[in-house]
Amino acid sequence: MKFDADRFKENLSARLKRQYGKDISQASKHDLFDAVSASVLEIIMENWMATRHEYEKKPVKQLYYLSAEFLMGRALSNNLINAEISSQVKEVLKGMNIDYDMIEDQEPDAGLGNGGLGRLAACFLDSLATLDYPGHGYGIRYRYGMFEQKIENGYQVEYPDNWLAHRDPWEIKRSDLSVTVKFGGNIAYGKTPDGRDRYYIENAEEVTATPYDMPIVGFGTGTVNTLRLWQASSPNGFDLQLFNNMEYNRAVERQNSAENISAVLYPNDSGPSGKALRLKQQYFFSSASLQDLVRHYVADHGTDFSKFADLHVIQLNDTHPVVAIPELMRILMDEYNVGWDDAWNVVTHTFAYTNHTILAEALEKWPIEIFQGLLPRIYQIVEEINRRFMIQLREKYPNDYAKHGRMSIINDGKVYMAWLAIHAGFSVNGVAELHTRLLKEQELHDWYELYPEKFNNKTNGITQRRWLLSANEELSEFITKRIGHGWEKDLTKLKGLEKFTSDKDLNELIAIKEHNKRRLADYLKHAQNEIIDADSIFDVQVKRLHEYKRQLMNILHIMYVYNKMLEDPNYKPAKKTYIFGAKSASGYRRAKSIIKLINTVAERINNDRRVNDRLHVVFVENYRVSVAEKIFPAADVSEQISTAGLEASGTSNMKFMVNGALTMGTMDGANIEIVEEAGKENAFIFGLLTDEILKIERDHSYNPQEYLERNPGLAKVVEQLVDGTYDPTHQLFKELHDSLVYGVEGNRADVYYVLADFDSYCKAQDEMEKLYADKKAWAKACLMNIANAGKFSSDRTIEDYVRDIWHLKKLPRPVEGSALTEKKSAKKTAKK
Ligand SMILES: *Cc1c(COP(=O)(O)O)cnc(C)c1O
Repeated sequence: MKFDADRFKENLSARLKRQYGKDISQASKHDLFDAVSASVLEIIMENWMATRHEYEKKPVKQLYYLSAEFLMGRALSNNLINAEISSQVKEVLKGMNIDYDMIEDQEPDAGLGNGGLGRLAACFLDSLATLDYPGHGYGIRYRYGMFEQKIENGYQVEYPDNWLAHRDPWEIKRSDLSVTVKFGGNIAYGKTPDGRDRYYIENAEEVTATPYDMPIVGFGTGTVNTLRLWQASSPNGFDLQLFNNMEYNRAVERQNSAENISAVLYPNDSGPSGKALRLKQQYFFSSASLQDLVRHYVADHGTDFSKFADLHVIQLNDTHPVVAIPELMRILMDEYNVGWDDAWNVVTHTFAYTNHTILAEALEKWPIEIFQGLLPRIYQIVEEINRRFMIQLREKYPNDYAKHGRMSIINDGKVYMAWLAIHAGFSVNGVAELHTRLLKEQELHDWYELYPEKFNNKTNGITQRRWLLSANEELSEFITKRIGHGWEKDLTKLKGLEKFTSDKDLNELIAIKEHNKRRLADYLKHAQNEIIDADSIFDVQVKRLHEYKRQLMNILHIMYVYNKMLEDPNYKPAKKTYIFGAKSASGYRRAKSIIKLINTVAERINNDRRVNDRLHVVFVENYRVSVAEKIFPAADVSEQISTAGLEASGTSNMKFMVNGALTMGTMDGANIEIVEEAGKENAFIFGLLTDEILKIERDHSYNPQEYLERNPGLAKVVEQLVDGTYDPTHQLFKELHDSLVYGVEGNRADVYYVLADFDSYCKAQDEMEKLYADKKAWAKACLMNIANAGKFSSDRTIEDYVRDIWHLKKLPRPVEGSALTEKKSAKKTAKK
């Protein structure tokens, strides 16, 4: 984008004066961050407006990505890089004696998501804009995002994430586009002027939804798309009558009830909340988004909806926004008098659904009392959808009553959101090859039989702009120096790195990793006063804490190595720093015990002089996007050790890979595709395969006791959970111990096969150490991982969605002065 240094400076000063009544010398760090961001937004704004005008000018098909979560992280550095004005802005600031890094650090993360699912949505928006596709996000502007995690006495303690304490310089409030969302009330019935049945809601709770727009800046293009987040408020504020009667609490009751809807992100990752407020959130943003789209459509095309599906495709990110399906039926029928069949025809050509997990507990089902009470008309529509579906099903499978029951959208007192999505949507996708296969063969087998044509795979990806270009400047330079620009928009170009295996190349690669490790060490020193040795192997597991992700296996292995070092003073393993980062859902007791265990073991080992020169364990507090950006570039080993068949895809595995860390992993999720690309010899693969586990489960043949008897070292660390070694009360880790040895809460022992995989995990760790001892061989393996990471760009994922599901057309908006455009035009001139 065009950059005018003088104008930028002027804007910056004007902004400080207008917003804060200060000049540069008086401005606080935060004031400066705010004014710099506002001045950057001003530059972006022209392209943002131009992009919108272009979309409005021509009726083109647009994608709307509905997601309860967008884990955006920070915007400033990303926007600077994508707008290709990073070096210019930094230079101006330097000239003004303003430290850019300090400014960047003032920005709170927009942590409006839990983990992988929310981060995927953020990466997709980046790719859509970069590839010039008209695709936008719709979600919720949570007042409080993902909680802030502190570790106190080894325990996770949650604090509210007050990310809007200062204003957010990137958002634009669009009060003019507010809509009303209705909850509860009763269904009323009447006739339309032309004599048709017409339903409407009376006595509902009315909530105002106000959109806040954020720009999504494409890299090296003028395309700027929109993330539209809805905020809830009460249309009539507080009750003055009650206030005057000194009934203060009741006076603000309605206001609070409305505002609560967008107040907090539920911190459950892949799990149920079951709470009415959560369903309220889902309907709130789904309804507001649909009303927004329909209003816009009607303004342009009137009430003939036959073109709606040609101009809109709506991707449902998991089941959270599935209630948008009956909501579109309601809007079309109740507000625009469209008949059932025409409305159904629109709906079934508009929605596509992405499944993110095969964990049964994550398939959302709402108790009818909650659903019907909150959304009476929507429930009525779902009942009708299901009534018609059941007729269809009985025709197709006349006597298979069990199947009718299994597939009924309303069953057993609950509404099954995934079933609704699969039945009404035209596409169902999993997020990695293995995951999609398991959906077809296991979890959604009935549905695959009924609708095979709807099922497809879209292996996840990550944006290289944030996770490489921005997070790892040194490696980016290393790459560009060798293969030139272009990889920023076509990651498969990295393949060209494969031939750079000279000593000089590999030494440079090693030096870059060392530099990034020191940078992470500095951060940990400042952030949590943790001193780590940048000269050790950084073995990293960062992701949400979940039993299936098996952080427990990782820490048990560390306890095992520690025991071995104490027992045999001659045993000198390679110097290692084990790094963990993970938030646990607040109510997930066993996950919280695992955090406490990691911290307890860390405290013991880090203070034991017999081992702490070569063994160190770190728990990174408050893991989030901005910290992740420092961790991936510094990692040597990427721990991806979930029980085979349970991690749908994983995306941190891809961020590690592209930053030159080697995967220590099971054949699960996208790990399989990663080693397919990188080569098995450039990763450490271990553990039971999915099909082996499926067979064990069919035969009920798992006996964890066997593994304890066979490996006394393993039996010892399991026993140490309860024998007082780490906890004098013997109680803290008893549930973890029992979950492995006996089974708890009606589950069998060791549901996640930690004991079964432990031996082969140890062997893979040994293999890893052996390779690390040969620095050149290690560096070469890193290079092979980087060179073969091309498939895992979210650009590739988006192109897959466009080709198979969305069918969008690119609307290129070339910019002058782009590094990429410049290069292309230079080539053209050369040819002439
Ligand atoms: C990528 C990412 C995740 C997803 O990690 P997985 O290992 O794929 O579960 C979670 N949180 C943050 C902050 C991320 O950047």
